[in-house]
Amino acid sequence: MQEDNPGMTSADISPSPSGENVAVATRSTMLQLTNVDTFYGPSQVLHNVSLEVKSGEIVCLLGANAAGKTTTMKTIFGLVRPRHGTIEFEGGRIERKLPGDIVRSGLVLVPEARRIFPRMTVLENLEMGAFIRNNRAEIKEDLDHVFQIFPRIKERIKQVAGTMSGGEQQMLAMGRALMSSPKMMCMDEPSMGLSPILVETVFNTILRIRNEGVTVFLVEQNASMALSLADRGYVLQTGRIVLSDTAPNLLTNDLVRQAYLGGG
Ligand code: ATP
Repeated sequence: MQEDNPGMTSADISPSPSGENVAVATRSTMLQLTNVDTFYGPSQVLHNVSLEVKSGEIVCLLGANAAGKTTTMKTIFGLVRPRHGTIEFEGGRIERKLPGDIVRSGLVLVPEARRIFPRMTVLENLEMGAFIRNNRAEIKEDLDHVFQIFPRIKERIKQVAGTMSGGEQQMLAMGRALMSSPKMMCMDEPSMGLSPILVETVFNTILRIRNEGVTVFLVEQNASMALSLADRGYVLQTGRIVLSDTAPNLLTNDLVRQAYLGGG
């Protein structure tokens, strides 16, 4: 597990909306998308998407069904290639890299609908998360750390993962991602299909993960929860970024309130 954020200093600390102390002005950029266009065959889904996530931040990407949120994640991880534009992680270009190499560089995805390996046990799923590593002692250390964050997962290490509840599978998917010892975690709709209480547990865990040094980029339809947690956010509409601001400003923004928070 990474202990600290290279871009953070003890100077210039200010409170985030979630009440945690995070450095603001001195953070380095971890992930940057610049003018990204993504197509499926002839149909263009992402139009000139630019966004950045800085070290130590939680940034959310909000959008309705079919806005292109999952496509953004797939583009970042090399699962679809952008036709134009660049993607950089810690200053290095990744838009032509293979997904495994992207994970090796410290960027990991918790995919939509969890996508754990349903026929494998919980422990086997977690071990799969460490596929890029070979230091057994460090893997064991991280496994113990994952069990500390998710005690419930520890209780179930021998269980076949597909028989667990949705909430447990989400915890497992997050635990599996942590097993790659990431610097940054991208999460595609972690609240999807979960009860309100489980959504709260998942979001508290995301905060904990960030506070332990992992930068977070989060794609969500649950705008109110995402904005209560995030430092900043972007709004994606039909494949275009139409708004970007701090989370508190987005919470009071008319467009966001009307379109995503069910209010006027
Ligand atoms: P949701 O919240 O419903 O998952 P989303 O914002 O994640 O939506 P995407 O899954 O990125 O949206 O889809 C954006 C658009 O791209 C949709 O119109 C979808 O039908 C289309 N699309 C997604 N995957 C493919 C694909 N493999 N081939 C063709 N079109 C696709």
